Amino acid sequence: MTNVLVYAETRGGQPRKVTFEAITAARQLADQLGGAVHVVVAGPAGVEALAASFGEHGADVVVACGHESLVHYQPDVATALVASRARSATYRAIVFSASAQGKDLAPRVAARLRTTLASDVTSFSLRGDAMVVTHPGYTGKVIQTLKLVASPALLAVRPGAVAAAKQPKAGTVEAVALPELPSARVTTTETVLGDTKKLDLGEAPVIVSGGRGLKAAEHFALVEELAAAFGNAAVGATRAVTDEGWRPHADQIGQTGRLVSPDLYVAVGISGAIQHLAGMRTSRCIVAINKDKEAPIFKVADYGIVGDVFEVVPALTAAIKSAKQGA
Ligand SMILES: Cc1cc2nc3c(=O)[nH]c(=O)nc-3n(C[C@H](O)[C@H](O)[C@H](O)COP(=O)(O)OP(=O)(O)OC[C@H]3O[C@@H](n4cnc5c(N)ncnc54)[C@H](O)[C@@H]3O)c2cc1C
Repeated sequence: MTNVLVYAETRGGQPRKVTFEAITAARQLADQLGGAVHVVVAGPAGVEALAASFGEHGADVVVACGHESLVHYQPDVATALVASRARSATYRAIVFSASAQGKDLAPRVAARLRTTLASDVTSFSLRGDAMVVTHPGYTGKVIQTLKLVASPALLAVRPGAVAAAKQPKAGTVEAVALPELPSARVTTTETVLGDTKKLDLGEAPVIVSGGRGLKAAEHFALVEELAAAFGNAAVGATRAVTDEGWRPHADQIGQTGRLVSPDLYVAVGISGAIQHLAGMRTSRCIVAINKDKEAPIFKVADYGIVGDVFEVVPALTAAIKSAKQGA
């Protein structure tokens, strides 16, 4: 039991960044075990062409199911594919992303295989026979360490918790047929994407997030300008802001919004309520700007700027622009 299985997420026939993160996580585990990484991917005809990019990130074998009915994510088909592959061989672990799709699929597979699942995993390692993982608990108030002794152990890894890395392997394709299902209980008939020109919050290396301290929807221009100065940033918001209708709900970060772990998270006029921290405290570097030096956001911040957002943010934007011009 040294091999590790991965479920590869695609969108519009292309692999998502979280897929490469999941393959990288699986590679790290397989290297510790001395085993191989097998990847299951489902999609429209021709999906096996993605094997090359999976191989680049460490996949030894790519189990590809291509069929015209798989243009959209189909939960019943994906569950059957992953579960039947898991039963046909012995895997020590199965890795998913804790993305919206992964959070839908991983519990289905865990139930089908009657095994254990750790969700929203932020780190993992093997200690003897056990898989030891950490994940935020109690809306991010604590980081829990879990010991998973069942095999295969299912892990849904938080987007951004593992940096995708290239480690070229064969990526040999094994084509499999569409599983025969008695009747699909759920069929995805349409996927409506949000603003595809915007960077996805789960994939952006930098997030600039605004809170009620910005006072009005139009002042989000400050946040947009700071994000644009970084060049690789997405814009997020607190629930106070999305409830006010200043930003769409899709931008909300926190317990009832998106869970993110970017390299850099800039919190602008955000108090740092526990429900907001639940979605962003695992970010690699947190910068907070708030006029109240007692604001709870400063407890999780790596760098804190006590000041008025209407003065600090334009100055920061100008400084980043000039640093980039000088570079
Ligand atoms: C069940 C439940 C689920 C929730 N889920 C979420 C969630 O997913 N995400 C989420 O974000 N919240 C969530 N909340 C809401 C959460 O409790 C907070 O109300 C919310 O996060 C506060 O948003 P805020 O920081 O923008 O606003 P506030 O708490 O009002 O903070 C505004 C901050 O701006 C600062 N400020 C004001 N003016 C300036 C200025 N000129 N310059 C600098 N700083 C200034 C203030 O000092 C203050 O700290 C949830 C609540 C519940 C009950």
